[in-house]
Amino acid sequence: MKEQKWKRFMKVWHITLVMGLLMGTAAPVLGLAEEMSSQASSQIEETATSSTSETKASQTAKATTETTTAADEKKTAPKAAADDTGTKKITILGTSDVHGQLWNYSYEDKKETPVGLAQVSSAVQAARSQNQNGTVLIDNGDMVQGTILTDDLYNTKEGYKDKAHPMIKAMNYMKYDAMVLGNHEFNFGLPLIEKIKSEASFPILSANTYKKADGSNFVGSTTIKELDFDGDSTTDLKVGVIGLTMPVT
Ligand SMILES: [Zn+2]
Repeated sequence: MKEQKWKRFMKVWHITLVMGLLMGTAAPVLGLAEEMSSQASSQIEETATSSTSETKASQTAKATTETTTAADEKKTAPKAAADDTGTKKITILGTSDVHGQLWNYSYEDKKETPVGLAQVSSAVQAARSQNQNGTVLIDNGDMVQGTILTDDLYNTKEGYKDKAHPMIKAMNYMKYDAMVLGNHEFNFGLPLIEKIKSEASFPILSANTYKKADGSNFVGSTTIKELDFDGDSTTDLKVGVIGLTMPVT
C-alpha cells in the first residue's frame, strides 16, 4: 500500500519535470535545483560504500552559467546584429526518478504506462529543435533501478549483466550532458555504478559521495558544458554543473 502511494508520488514528480521540459526555459529547473541543493547540503558526509543503502542518497544537479568567452565578445558587428539583441537563451532539461522505465510499458503490470525514457526523448527532441545549440540535458538520478528490465535482468542476471545497460544506452542515444547518482543507483553495489560509468558517454556526478578509505570522490563532482550558439566551433558560454546525491527519493 505504501509502495503504491510512493509510486503515485513519483508519477507526480515525473510530470513536474516534464512540465519543466516543455516550458523550455532555465528558470523553473534552476529554481528547483536551488531548492534541492539546499536540502542536499546537510548530506555531505554520506559515503558510497554502503551498497545496500535503502538509506542514502538522492540527487540534484545545479546548473549555473559562468562566463561568456572572449570569442563571444570578439564577434564582428554584422554578426552581432544578426543576433538581434545578442541575448542568448539556455534551455536546461532535467529528468529524475526514471526508475528503469525505458519504454512506455510496464513489464510488471503487462500494460502501457504514461512514463518512459522513450517518451521523454520525444520531448527532448522537441525542446532541442527550439534551441539547437543552447540546450543542456541532465538526469538527477535513480535511472538504472526500478523495473524487471533493470533489477531482474541487466543489473543482476547472468547473461544480461555483462551486456551494455539499456538505460545508459538510451541516455547515450539521447545525448545526455551529465547524470547525477541517485540513492537507488547504489542498490546493486558499487560494481554496477563502475560499469555504467564506463558505458556512459557523459559524466556521472556526485560531489558529496566519498570513498571511506581515502576520502576521495567516488565519481566526478562537476562538469562544464560548453555551448556554441552560432555553430562557429568556438565556445560562447560555459555552463557549470554540480552533482549532489541525497539520501532519499
Ligand atoms: Zn527515485
